[in-house]
Amino acid sequence: MKPLQSLRGMVDLLPGQTPFWQRIEATARDHFRRAAVEEIRTPLLEATELFARGIGEATDVVGKEMYSFDDRGARSCTLRPEGTASVVRAAIQHGLVAQGPQRLWYGGPMFRYERPQAGRQRQFHQIGLEFLGHADPRSDVEAIAIAWDLLMDLGLGGLRLELNSLGSPDDRLRYRAELVAWLEAHRERLDPDSQQRIATNPLRVLDSKNPDTQELLAGAPTLADALDGASHERFLRVRQGLEALAIPFELNPRLVRGLDYYGHTAFEITSSQLGAQATVCGGGRYDGLVEQLGGPPTPAVGWALGMERLVLLVQASGGEQGSAPPPDLYLVSRGETAEAQALALARGWRRQGLAVELDLSGAAYGKQFKRADRSGARWAAVLGEAETSEGVVILRDLRSGDAAAEQRLAPGAVADVLGAADRLNG
Ligand code: ATP
Ligand code: MG
Repeated sequence: MKPLQSLRGMVDLLPGQTPFWQRIEATARDHFRRAAVEEIRTPLLEATELFARGIGEATDVVGKEMYSFDDRGARSCTLRPEGTASVVRAAIQHGLVAQGPQRLWYGGPMFRYERPQAGRQRQFHQIGLEFLGHADPRSDVEAIAIAWDLLMDLGLGGLRLELNSLGSPDDRLRYRAELVAWLEAHRERLDPDSQQRIATNPLRVLDSKNPDTQELLAGAPTLADALDGASHERFLRVRQGLEALAIPFELNPRLVRGLDYYGHTAFEITSSQLGAQATVCGGGRYDGLVEQLGGPPTPAVGWALGMERLVLLVQASGGEQGSAPPPDLYLVSRGETAEAQALALARGWRRQGLAVELDLSGAAYGKQFKRADRSGARWAAVLGEAETSEGVVILRDLRSGDAAAEQRLAPGAVADVLGAADRLNG
């Protein structure tokens, strides 16, 4: 029978890769803890309406990329394509926003029906941060700083922070009219996708990946010129805040972000090492979203970073190998009584904090020792029928070629011997 395959764009993470993921997740957790950001977990499946209302019908995500289906109760459900809408829904539903500002983070799989390629999958993973209830430009700066410091702490170089202001809803309305007039005047020279977007989502044309369109857009009116005094002042304060923290950034007047709910600060962190999928982290301010989803008016700012792209960067930056640390001790046993006792011994040592790999093969000693070597463990414990009846184990130092490096000792003494050897080796 032909073995089954995973679905296109759905990727398995094998043991050779998970250590990279664990390291990134542990670093992120630690940064969030030190920044007093609390974790929130929401369901993978939500009512389709949440994303239609929250992200916007005219976006690629809602228009083309969602995994939606009717459940057995004929309710339209969607596998979450992003985290923000769910976090905001949960915060409203449980009255969190009424309790004062919320500093939240989340992590986990997201689903988008896209064309899979390097750094782009159909199930992918994000870690994200959401600050709900802060309007001050300092909250934009702090949110960006947490992302930046996390990426720096992972040892990544060559990152660029790109920054723009999308202004207030009024600014955007004014700008939208100006831009549409300009785009209409240049319609013939736009790529077909962009031509369509003039009517549905004109700001997204600025984000076109088509090089000819990009060249043409150099002459388009910019959002920066459409900002009113207050928006201008706000953006200035964000920039000054970043400068005061010595976080380098570049202004990108065409940065608009793919989701409808952004306003004022928008940013992306990109790497030249990622090819076409260059953006590792994107975010910004979304002051209107909480209200749009039925909550009280609540300013908000946040970001999401793509784990797959981050893992590619961490791997490219050299760093440590993608393998789990070896066990402390490999337990070899032979004979019915010894094998039964080995289970109990392994359990006892694990309780004492040792990492123990138990050979379950029942194979000849030679084969078991070969596997012990391959496991990378420094020590092997050997338990045969003789040892079982004497109530001892043989402890062998696999790094010393010397057979005299073996000692017979009571199982209870093993953890002490290993600990002492560790201390000797510093
Ligand atoms: P892109 O322009 O690359 O499609 P996006 O604007 O759709 O990105 P966001 O919705 O802002 O992305 O998501 C934040 C981050 O999540 C992205 O910067 C990226 O790192 C990651 N990401 C988004 N879609 C995918 C995907 N299909 N596969 C892997 N990572 C993704
Ligand atoms: Mg996308």
